Amino acid sequence: QAKEKGKNSICFYTSDINDRLVHYQDMTAILRRAIAADHLQLYFQPQIDLKSGGIQSCEALLRCFTDEGKPVLPAIFIPVAEKSGLINRIGDWVLEAACKQLKAWQGTALEQTRIDINLSGRQLTNLHLADHILQTLKKYGLEPGQLGLELTENEVIGGDNEQIGQLERLKQAGVHISIDDFGTGYSSLVYLRKLPVCSLKIDRSFLHHAMENESDMAIMQAIITVGHRLGLSVVVEGVETQEQDSLVKSLGCDLAQGFLYARPMPANQMPAFLAQ
Ligand code: C2E
Ligand code: MG
Ligand code: MG
Ligand code: MG
Repeated sequence: QAKEKGKNSICFYTSDINDRLVHYQDMTAILRRAIAADHLQLYFQPQIDLKSGGIQSCEALLRCFTDEGKPVLPAIFIPVAEKSGLINRIGDWVLEAACKQLKAWQGTALEQTRIDINLSGRQLTNLHLADHILQTLKKYGLEPGQLGLELTENEVIGGDNEQIGQLERLKQAGVHISIDDFGTGYSSLVYLRKLPVCSLKIDRSFLHHAMENESDMAIMQAIITVGHRLGLSVVVEGVETQEQDSLVKSLGCDLAQGFLYARPMPANQMPAFLAQ
């Protein structure tokens, strides 16, 4: 809900910050403060293997808190971080935090669980990104296969050859690469042929409409079929009901993520979730 009103005066309306309008400057200040005071936290949402019911991966979702401990949603602060350039520092923080978590899970039941982090397109413009990610994994003694990256279609397709080359290097090294919110961007299936990706994550809006709408159902089915033919795994986002769970299973989706199975949770709740 960002409203552009000239330079540096985007307004955000969020119920998380006392139901008031937050200006771009305020939000930038909140973000800087959260970085300095370490008021950032990763939450984790498991991805369920629909055939086995097991969990081999989870998505890391960033949470930012004000000094008063009020959460600010990524939909509000990520666009501000991107516009202000803070996204690079935040992206580094997320990468480090994910690696620390992977290290902490070593020797526990979560040892085999991959963590997928979200990347902003702006991070991909850093031509040292691939080196930086691989070096960070090494620094923590982790295998590249323990980490995944999620990028949206537009971010990947909009990238130039060098940016795509970076993703290629990362994929070749074993980092898992997913296209996030698939179906909402340019959606040209032709691009899939040349993009270095491992998984497609079907945007949750398709699933929500597929319940009443035949054409959305047909699109989902087509994405799954094409994905499989290209050797990609297909993840569906936003499963909230049993009906949706049955639908995505019948459509042949490989993995699912959604409130039905688990909401994003702090790392300390993951072992209990896995055990049940
Ligand atoms: P996303 O990557 O598509 O993440 C999925 C979003 O869907 C998350 O929202 C998650 O909480 C939500 N979700 C999961 N299951 C369900 C469900 O069953 N129903 C509904 N209605 N929602 C569900 P969240 O955590 O608010 O994140 C929003 C977006 O912010 C993310 O979308 C991602 O694009 C961005 N984001 C989050 N963390 C980061 C980060 O560390 N870096 C960057 N660059 N972006 C991030
Ligand atoms: Mg994502
Ligand atoms: Mg998504
Ligand atoms: Mg997204």
